[in-house]
Amino acid sequence: MRALPASVLAVCGLIAAACGTASGAPAADQAAAPAGTAAEPAVSARPADKAPSVRPLDGKVVVIDPGHNGGNFRAPKKINRQVDVLTQRKACDTTGTATNDGYAEAAFTWDVSRRMAKILKSRGATVKLTRKNNTGVGPCITERAAIGNRAKADAAISVHADGSAPGNRGFHVIMPKKIGGPVDPVVGKSAKLGKAVRDAFRKGTGLPYSTYIGTKALNYRSDLGGLNLSTVPKVFIECGNMRNAAEAARFRDPAFRQRIALALANGVQHYLTS
Ligand code: ZN
Repeated sequence: MRALPASVLAVCGLIAAACGTASGAPAADQAAAPAGTAAEPAVSARPADKAPSVRPLDGKVVVIDPGHNGGNFRAPKKINRQVDVLTQRKACDTTGTATNDGYAEAAFTWDVSRRMAKILKSRGATVKLTRKNNTGVGPCITERAAIGNRAKADAAISVHADGSAPGNRGFHVIMPKKIGGPVDPVVGKSAKLGKAVRDAFRKGTGLPYSTYIGTKALNYRSDLGGLNLSTVPKVFIECGNMRNAAEAARFRDPAFRQRIALALANGVQHYLTS
């Protein structure tokens, strides 16, 4: 007699929706989904070797932009060159911030981005990064946007960490605003991507919403070239405040950076598959 409950449990585990209908749904729903749906377990129970090897992100293109670059501080002339971001002119790129003990934002964003790329590739996505290493210079923010556009990315994300006052804490996501420019058609999708990333980041890392920017970790800006010039859905994540001692310690920990990467990958996946 023990075999029967065990098999029923297995079926419930595989098709939770059907089990929910059987146990708790009102009569009307049961009429809409008659006993015939009980045939579904036979499909779910087919041998694993006959199951199609479809990965959740097959066919999707994701562009990851690791903020700044490790060599930027060596090339002030090149990175300070003014570029047009449609709403204003600003520097081609910046050096980024660092923790008080010298862990650079560029190194952090490079590591997190590579970890994230690996996860997304394992789930079937085609992933492109906007730079090849953490020893070079740039590229300019205009080119970082262009890389996502040329790849026709289904989603693009620029990875950063902030450098704010030491008492400030938490992460925030930055999304584009309509500017009468190329980003306008993807402002809505970018907002959806941003909320998916915000939710996954909060759940996966446990870091708080920013205490100093945005509303519930959501912020909308029209001064960022990486967003203004994007024709694909794109957001920035500021993973936290590198000048806050508690968050700096987390960012220095490779295991925590893996958690960040996993959370970001999950957020992007949720956007791409829902
Ligand atoms: Zn940055």
